[in-house]
Amino acid sequence: MADRSRIEWTDATWNPVRGCTKVSPGCANCYAETFAERFRGVPGHPYEQGFDLRLVPEKLQDPLTWQRPRLVFVNSMSDLFHKDVPDDYILAVVSVMQRANWHTYQVLTKRSERLARMLAGPLRSMAAEPHIWWGVSVENRKHGLPRVGHLRGASAAVRFLSVEPLLEDLGRVDLSGIHWMIVGGESGPGARPLNPEWVRDLRDQALRARVPFFFKQWGGVRKKAAGRVLDGRTWDQLPAAVGL
Ligand code: SF4
Repeated sequence: MADRSRIEWTDATWNPVRGCTKVSPGCANCYAETFAERFRGVPGHPYEQGFDLRLVPEKLQDPLTWQRPRLVFVNSMSDLFHKDVPDDYILAVVSVMQRANWHTYQVLTKRSERLARMLAGPLRSMAAEPHIWWGVSVENRKHGLPRVGHLRGASAAVRFLSVEPLLEDLGRVDLSGIHWMIVGGESGPGARPLNPEWVRDLRDQALRARVPFFFKQWGGVRKKAAGRVLDGRTWDQLPAAVGL
């Protein structure tokens, strides 16, 4: 069975790669790093090598063994398009998604240039698959907004934004060609503050552009207590294509 995920916008996680390195301010309090480093040096533990990047080929086939259709977050503990993951391995991961097509996959990256390059090249035949959603993380204007441009330019059936942790007012975001927006604040010790006006502005932009909007969490040190209600309701919209 897959790990049952506690992430609000997915059912399960699948990690054929473990570990990563930081690329931008959104990574400062990376939950995956904190989790992995707790187990560094523990013999036999999946994170015995902490957050060092490594391929996990023995996990590649997992989705083929899960019979019930699920929303699967690919690499919750890494970034599939990290420079140290070879093209051939990425192809092997995506080919499993293509074969186990009763699931829906969410592939999220901060390495958006490589994502766009590969979708135009070796992944071209897989880009049109409606059950594989391609997404980029957006935390601020400087690092996040260029990723939206890379994603928009990529050939893909479903493109989504994970605007989390939202660190500042993003201003106007061009949502053309985008099929889903997730927004959330940072959680855990040292969480950076989220201004409700930044969230409202993004929700309103999404509604105007008819982009499904998902508000994941306010975050903060006590994430559960802060909840995920925005203006009297939860926002749980999903891309129309999924039909869930
Ligand atoms: S890209 Fe993602 S997994 Fe990698 S360090 Fe940054 S937040 Fe963590």
